Amino acid sequence: MSASSTTPAQTLDADAVRREVPILAREIYGKPLVYLDNAASTQKPRAVIDAVATFYETTNANIHRGVHRLSQEATDAFELARERMRAFLGAAQHEEIIFTRGTTESINLIAASYGHANVGAGDEILISHMEHHSNIVPWQLLCEQTGAKLVVAPITDDGDIDMDVLASLLGDRTKIVSVGHVSNALGTVNPVAEIGRLAHEVGAVFVVDGAQGAPHGAVDVRALGADFYACSGHKMYGPTGIGVLYGRRELLDAMPPYQGGGEMIRTVTFEKSTYAPVPAKFEAGTPNIAGGVGFGAAAVWLQSHGLEAIERHEADLLAYGTQRLAEIEGLRMIGTARRKAGVLSFVLDCAHPHDVGTILDREGVAVRTGHHCAQPVMERFGVPATSRASLGLYNTRADLDALVDALQQVREVFA
Ligand code: PMP
Repeated sequence: MSASSTTPAQTLDADAVRREVPILAREIYGKPLVYLDNAASTQKPRAVIDAVATFYETTNANIHRGVHRLSQEATDAFELARERMRAFLGAAQHEEIIFTRGTTESINLIAASYGHANVGAGDEILISHMEHHSNIVPWQLLCEQTGAKLVVAPITDDGDIDMDVLASLLGDRTKIVSVGHVSNALGTVNPVAEIGRLAHEVGAVFVVDGAQGAPHGAVDVRALGADFYACSGHKMYGPTGIGVLYGRRELLDAMPPYQGGGEMIRTVTFEKSTYAPVPAKFEAGTPNIAGGVGFGAAAVWLQSHGLEAIERHEADLLAYGTQRLAEIEGLRMIGTARRKAGVLSFVLDCAHPHDVGTILDREGVAVRTGHHCAQPVMERFGVPATSRASLGLYNTRADLDALVDALQQVREVFA
């Protein structure tokens, strides 16, 4: 009998979660804060705030180099965080976890290091039409520098990758396939394991931009077949300025350094330097130590609430929000894929998204308006911008009711 048939599924008590996140008690213009901008950045639970504060209050020192006690304790705290991120992502070894500034830096690292070592003129890099700019521009730079070609897999009107076309675009020349786990603009959950399988069939490495995947469900980089997986602390209820790049050990071992400096060397002479083994090879300079500690605490906090329970909770909210938003006259949902995560991106026929965002803000409802760093997606759907409500584990149906009430007010003002 499987464990799931004997163990009752963990349920998520969003009201209890809310009490762990101090900022959610704030009022905005005298109204309770309704925070629906989680795809841009999430709010921090006490566990993360305390982990960072306690680190500075009790343990702070530079890491890896010191013989003194504080330096050793700080090193242990940072390395514990690495181990926590390894466990969170299902990586085989802690050496496969590189701390970076975030998803953007993680992808730039792959492009600069793996890309320059392995991609040349005439080679191809395949992405999809729904990518965030940080999964487009680093590859464009690599193409400009090497003479490689960026190939873009189209998406359907619902916001799914057209898998038949994607498969037909892969070939001997494809060296890298890089797609988002979840689209920040549309909410589409991409079939990454399937795309990884297709990428490997043609001998390409498979990169997953996990910025919007890792916060919302269990991730197992090995089950996904990801050679690289990038994510950001601040989207996972952790600090800003810290992220992770998971990379398969054989690939990381063979890759040249990304940045030079302290920490990443074995020996330095003016004639030649030799490099430290991974992960240090890719962590030049003093890292964001407290950020790493906070990120590790965030991973543990997410696990304590149960990634499956979080996914179920957000799926319930997504279904409820989708149904409630359909009540609003003149609202068009952008992104209606078969599998979606908690993103409700929409336009109103009567008002520009920026006006929508401004009126919602006066009601205490925080959503994002704009192109969401995904201008090609906006162009694909023929809109300059959308309003986007994006969900986190502390959101409730009441938050979505508040959104709908505020949108009715927008209609009253503009329609
Ligand atoms: N990819 C996706 C899908 C994102 O949503 C974001 C952040 N909006 C990024 C990459 C970039 O993340 P960061 O700004 O934390 O580097």
